[in-house]
Amino acid sequence: VSSPDGGLENAFPSRPQRVATPVDQLPQLLKQHFGFDSFRASQEVVCRTVTEGKDVLLVMPTGAGKSICYQIPGIARGGTTLVVSPLVALIEDQVTKLQALKFAAERIHSGRGREESRQVCQRYLAGELDFLFIAPERLSVPGFPEFLRKRPPTLIAIDEAHCISQWGHDFRPDYRILGERLKELRPVPVIALTATATPTVQEDICRQLGLAAEARIIQGFRRNNISIEVAELSPGDRPDAIVSILKKAGRLPAIVYAPTRKKTDELTEVLSENLRVGAYHAGMLAQAREKVQAQFLANELDVMVATVAFGMGIDKPNIRTVIHAAMPGSIEGYYQEIGRAGRDGLPSQAYLLHSFADQKTHEFFFELNYPDEAKLQAIFDALKPQKISKEDIRIKVMDLDPRLDQETFDRALEQLWVHRGVIIDPDENMSRGQALWLKSYQLQRELKQKQLKQMLSFATSGKCRMVYLVSHFGDQNDSGKSCEMCDICNPQQTQSLMQKRNLSVTEKKSVAEILRLLQHESGLAAGRLFQLLSDAKISISRGEFEKLVTLLERKGWLESQEASFEKGGQSISYRKLSLSRGNGKSTAYNLQAIEELEIVAAPPSEKKRKKRESSKRSKTRSPRSKSSPRSNNNSGTGSPSKLFEPLREWRLKQAKRKNIPAFRILTDKALIAICELRPRSIMELLEISSLNRKSITQYGDDILRVVHLHT
Ligand code: ADP
Ligand code: MG
Repeated sequence: VSSPDGGLENAFPSRPQRVATPVDQLPQLLKQHFGFDSFRASQEVVCRTVTEGKDVLLVMPTGAGKSICYQIPGIARGGTTLVVSPLVALIEDQVTKLQALKFAAERIHSGRGREESRQVCQRYLAGELDFLFIAPERLSVPGFPEFLRKRPPTLIAIDEAHCISQWGHDFRPDYRILGERLKELRPVPVIALTATATPTVQEDICRQLGLAAEARIIQGFRRNNISIEVAELSPGDRPDAIVSILKKAGRLPAIVYAPTRKKTDELTEVLSENLRVGAYHAGMLAQAREKVQAQFLANELDVMVATVAFGMGIDKPNIRTVIHAAMPGSIEGYYQEIGRAGRDGLPSQAYLLHSFADQKTHEFFFELNYPDEAKLQAIFDALKPQKISKEDIRIKVMDLDPRLDQETFDRALEQLWVHRGVIIDPDENMSRGQALWLKSYQLQRELKQKQLKQMLSFATSGKCRMVYLVSHFGDQNDSGKSCEMCDICNPQQTQSLMQKRNLSVTEKKSVAEILRLLQHESGLAAGRLFQLLSDAKISISRGEFEKLVTLLERKGWLESQEASFEKGGQSISYRKLSLSRGNGKSTAYNLQAIEELEIVAAPPSEKKRKKRESSKRSKTRSPRSKSSPRSNNNSGTGSPSKLFEPLREWRLKQAKRKNIPAFRILTDKALIAICELRPRSIMELLEISSLNRKSITQYGDDILRVVHLHT
């Protein structure tokens, strides 16, 4: 198009330009266009600031209502707001919503045809669009930045802005160019939005986008309806634990986050015995992923077992439970994921299952994904200012270091590219990039490790879980009060999963023998050591043996090391065990110390639990239940009692009448306890620890009436 502006004027008669709205009329704008009666806390100040043309970095959790914070200022300022968003699905979703609200919203991304995109560009230049959405990589398409400059937007919004920072947990290399490209579009004001940025990431975003430090607004991280429980469980015990969590009444729908694709499939299989389960991970075809996602959103599935690939942009209000089946890699990711629970404000639970073994897995993946810098250096050294083909570089580098395998080479190259040490063109010809990659790569490796450590300290800390999270994000307006419902604040009600016990006689014997054998021979393969135990006629299973090894390792009595050997051209890896050097001949593990060892007791599997419960019941019966043995049989945790629904209905009615959340009337825990105990008197109600006196005074009679009517 030779003279787009002039030529288009006729083809697309400009609709009247939106006139700028004064700041004091923003609430009217909100009502008029979105139908909302008022701004949420924090939205208003952001909207004002941005409308006035100041930059803002807004950090608010998912669901808090960040979109309004660029949409209202965009409309108020008139002209077009350019929105940069990382995922096509997110773009499509936002555009559809805005169009439904009668805004002129359009998008350009890889999924659209040439002709469609051309028309969108024309409408943009004609000033017809309120919003133009693009994916970040669009800014590196030749000619596109120039195109934007022909008619600069009046506001630029960068959604999911944490993706720009390699210190964030979801770094996207495409976002890197944003900083440079934005400079060319200034002085247009910029609002960057994210739900997940630690102070370090916030600084990085500000620096890269050229936002002033005082532009930051961080708030709203506390969630009052999520109770967090952290349990130390060995990997083998987790599937049972997850089943027992999800079997409790009121725990569905749920998301179970699994650490790998393989574990996702395994867990899906286990859970499918009892529940309607879908699996979701990045290894599945897009179509299959979309299908399960839609089923989950439509309540056709009870549980989504997924890797962290699942969840961005998902808005399902009634998720009751989020379980992490393994230790996440960062607190940022973890908070995002548990934040998907309870968007409707109703009580919800988050369970984190982890053990020492998880650290090992993370270390393994860390070594794989972040090859040591010497490998990157070797590639960098082989590069020249002029272009060389990838194949040539690979041969050159692998000649120098024959131990380097193809996969490691690819990873190293990818990292070198991310950190700009290499420039790669679309045909994979490569030339030397900037030498600064080294510093940047080292920092990122350190950061990754720090994130893991932080996650571990969160899991093992004795501080209120919610307070820990809120202060991790540097929330500016938080009360700092304990949540009163996590496993730390309220241990009697939670910690249902983790019980410790002393070792059994066999286990003690095994420990003594393990230590004795290792004293004789350092660096024994775990498998060999297990074999030696069997030879010594100690009968424990391999699983039990592994648990003991983990325990001793955590105790600091022994150390393990990954090792490998070659067999038939394949590298087979195994674990080498040794006594901790510091403890060579110390008496740290004398018999007394072994006596005192504690191990996490597996949660009794469903069958065992039922047996135990019924035997306990028949031993310690209260006079009432003795006289009505039949009422006991259906009170197990397996089938939700028929008392549950009526009680819940009653609770909902009360909550509506008082206009307060239902859990303020009665927590789910209390509700379940009532179903199980079926109290007949105020005295019996008082025995329920999750019911406080105040609610007994207020609702005691009501509760007893419901119980009476339905049992
Ligand atoms: P975020 O981007 O922070 O995750 P969204 O912008 O998608 O959150 O908003 C989450 C939900 O909150 C949306 O359904 C939105 O319509 C709603 N919402 C936002 N602001 C308000 C408001 N002031 N009043 C009522 N609902 C709102
Ligand atoms: Mg959003």
